[in-house]
Amino acid sequence: MIAWEANIRRVVPYVPGDQPKGDRLVKLNTNENPYPPAPGVRKALLEMDYDRLRKYPDPIASDLVDVLAEYYGLGSDQVFVGVGSDDVIAMSFLTFFNSAKPILFPDVSYSFYKVWADLFRIPFETPALDAAFRICPEDYFKENGGIIFPNPNAPTGLYLPLDQVEAIIRRNPDVIVIVDEAYIDFGGTSALKLIETYDNLLVVQTFSKSRSMAGLRIGFAMGNPQLIKALNDVKYSYNSYTMNMPSLVLGKEAVKDDTYFKETLKKIIDTRERSKKRLRELGFTFPDSMSNFIFASHKTVPAAEIFEALRKEQIYVRYFKQPRLDDSLRISIGTEEEMNVLFGFLEHYLAERA
Ligand SMILES: *Cc1c(COP(=O)(O)O)cnc(C)c1O
Repeated sequence: MIAWEANIRRVVPYVPGDQPKGDRLVKLNTNENPYPPAPGVRKALLEMDYDRLRKYPDPIASDLVDVLAEYYGLGSDQVFVGVGSDDVIAMSFLTFFNSAKPILFPDVSYSFYKVWADLFRIPFETPALDAAFRICPEDYFKENGGIIFPNPNAPTGLYLPLDQVEAIIRRNPDVIVIVDEAYIDFGGTSALKLIETYDNLLVVQTFSKSRSMAGLRIGFAMGNPQLIKALNDVKYSYNSYTMNMPSLVLGKEAVKDDTYFKETLKKIIDTRERSKKRLRELGFTFPDSMSNFIFASHKTVPAAEIFEALRKEQIYVRYFKQPRLDDSLRISIGTEEEMNVLFGFLEHYLAERA
């Protein structure tokens, strides 16, 4: 081994879903929103002053922070923004998870948590979900260095009722509890209202799913001013200008158009509920999703085979080749038309297989 190789930081990276190229494909593999961003975003994009690209963006991102604070009824000192919630969560790990005790997150959950813990050398334990893929709050009532879980969870789509989320926060006053609400706009009640009661709670959300802006990379955290200041101190110690100018301008426009936001959410939720019905008719079972995806397994046909068959048809869903997950496919909710292509194919394919 060459001497310097001993000093390379070695990590097993997170593997994002494929971004296949082509026009005719049906892409249901990364939980993107099938509808475009709000019309105001398009207008602002077309009218954007390109000369402003010469300059550094606003380091405190105040326009975006202010509009989010107003929308959620918070002070501007209670909101932190970052380059997608991945950046916000990574910063949060660096900022809040510095105990020698292990942090806790579910064994079946967003697989990036383990990658950050490894990258930052944070010890961790992963309490198992129960047989029905539910988080057991009692598993989090023990000594730990911090807690993070998504709600609704990924890739199951299951929502943990707010009283159970609160129990986890209440029983852990000595550590920071992060609730990753990437999918909360699609169902369930946000833990946001608890931030006034619990100073150890950080709620993280994203523009990538419900606000149709995965390509711009905007995420945000909400919590008490002390937590937000600590996050900003770490951010400024790493990269002062995380948010680029177009994201700041366009993100603000997305928040302003609440009517469009609510209409889009309603369409996706309606399609999700219809999809549950169709999947059941086709012989699938799944946890009851409150998100914009369904984690479905077929009663007779292995998920890996369905995954390959779909891919040949240019229909992309997500398959995790891991214990407990490899019987299921995570199917993002697309437009009605996209879901009809999926169901049309599955109907034929499964009839032939039977
Ligand atoms: C999609 C997702 C994120 C990250 O989203 P960003 O695009 O980085 O905002 C974080 N947590 C969960 C559970 C997700 O599914």
